[in-house]
Amino acid sequence: MTPNAHDDYDRQLDRLCNWNRERLQKRRSDEEARRQAYEEYMDSPQWAKLRDLVLKRASYVCECCLVNPAVQAHHLTYEHFMCERAWELRAVCLQCHERIHTT
Ligand SMILES: [Zn+2]
Ligand SMILES: [Zn+2]
Repeated sequence: MTPNAHDDYDRQLDRLCNWNRERLQKRRSDEEARRQAYEEYMDSPQWAKLRDLVLKRASYVCECCLVNPAVQAHHLTYEHFMCERAWELRAVCLQCHERIHTT
């Protein structure tokens, strides 16, 4: 490799590294924005109302274990996130909800 070719290679590598870094940063800020929107929505009166209706539909009994009181609503899908259809939500107890998300 001539010294010049080596410089070119270095420059190319630099560009590639920068490009990857930018992409990574963008992805991270997308995730951050999504996480923030999710948390804001979970605190909204709109979500509180829908969740309560879903719990009520299940007579406040967990639809997973059918034993514990249901206290949260679990998303079967996030397809209509922020304008969910009620059938996309399941009333669950804390234990079941945790298990659903960790297994
Ligand atoms: Zn349960
Ligand atoms: Zn869930």
